Amino acid sequence: MIPLINLKQQFQEVKDDILNEFECVLESGQYILGPKVKLLEDRIAERLGVEEAVAVANGTDALVLTLQAYGIGEGDEVITTPFTFFASAEAVSRVGATPVFADVDPETYNIDPAKIEEKITTATKAIIPVHIFGQPADMDDIMAIAKKHGLFVIEDACQAFGAEYKGRPVGSLGDAACFSFFPTKNLGTLGDGGMVTTSDRDAARKIRSLRTHGTRKKYFHNQIGFNSRLDELHAAILLIILEKIDSWNEQRRNIAKRYQRALSGVSDLELPKEKEDRSHIYHLYCLGAEKRDEMMNTLQEYQIQSGIYYPRCLHLQDVYSFLPYKKGDFPVAESLSEKLFAIPMHPFLLKEEQDQIISVLLKRGEG
Ligand SMILES: *Cc1c(COP(=O)(O)O)cnc(C)c1O
Repeated sequence: MIPLINLKQQFQEVKDDILNEFECVLESGQYILGPKVKLLEDRIAERLGVEEAVAVANGTDALVLTLQAYGIGEGDEVITTPFTFFASAEAVSRVGATPVFADVDPETYNIDPAKIEEKITTATKAIIPVHIFGQPADMDDIMAIAKKHGLFVIEDACQAFGAEYKGRPVGSLGDAACFSFFPTKNLGTLGDGGMVTTSDRDAARKIRSLRTHGTRKKYFHNQIGFNSRLDELHAAILLIILEKIDSWNEQRRNIAKRYQRALSGVSDLELPKEKEDRSHIYHLYCLGAEKRDEMMNTLQEYQIQSGIYYPRCLHLQDVYSFLPYKKGDFPVAESLSEKLFAIPMHPFLLKEEQDQIISVLLKRGEG
């Protein structure tokens, strides 16, 4: 079976370094929010050219703590995309605010700036664009709308570490940005982890306090916070992966180029489009087919794994049935949920495996 993603192989590539770090951390006596975490924060802030990076327990918490740091809660609205992983909207609900959805662009699958403004009310406080599958959203347009209406922009960059928009890295484009280090993310660890990046020192200070039970200093609490800390071991592993991420992202991009070259022109396949002014890091390689089930079945017959991201838009999730949405409200997002499927994409996908995937899709496409 050719898997969608091969984590075992990925971590095997850096096994010796990881085992070495394991020993260092074990010997250090510091296991949570210690010097490795601080170093990871510094490296990421420096790389992105932002003032602060604050490590937290996971990407969802990164979003929740950031929303709370900006004072967003009950009675507030936050505009985001219905075509994303659930956590992008869940974080909004978690702080007591209401997610408001705006449809996506059919080419990039990202929130469509032209659909945002009509959703703004007096209750709107922020926009959460998601750089879906690793391609940056239309940040200039989104920032201009936010500025005009006095809204915060919180990038959900959980799928896009290393992607760039007009030469600037995601994570440095909004007021703040959130990353996930879940194992399957392109910058992932052997467990959970997350990071908020921002040049807003006040927000960073609040998030640092929130991640450790709302402390001002140890044992002095000035707000109700969270236990949302990053472990030293994960920080140590992430420092290793951080050294690799550019070459791993480049390998993903090269595989995407090969898929693109081989599959363009196949009539019943819609390939992902990469905009010229930004770089896609292909956290996932999703393509569209009207006959998705048949395509996926054929791939399965040839021992090639495929997957659906995402089979149900967020406005149609059971838990959001209390929100004023119905099927048909976001036709672009809904059609993506009906036609997109992901094929294997990871830095260590062999040429022969790529060829096999391509030949099955070509055969299927012609047939
Ligand atoms: C993975 C992901 C999250 C949540 O990250 P966790 O670390 O799993 O909590 C949020 N948003 C998007 C778009 C994601 O892909």
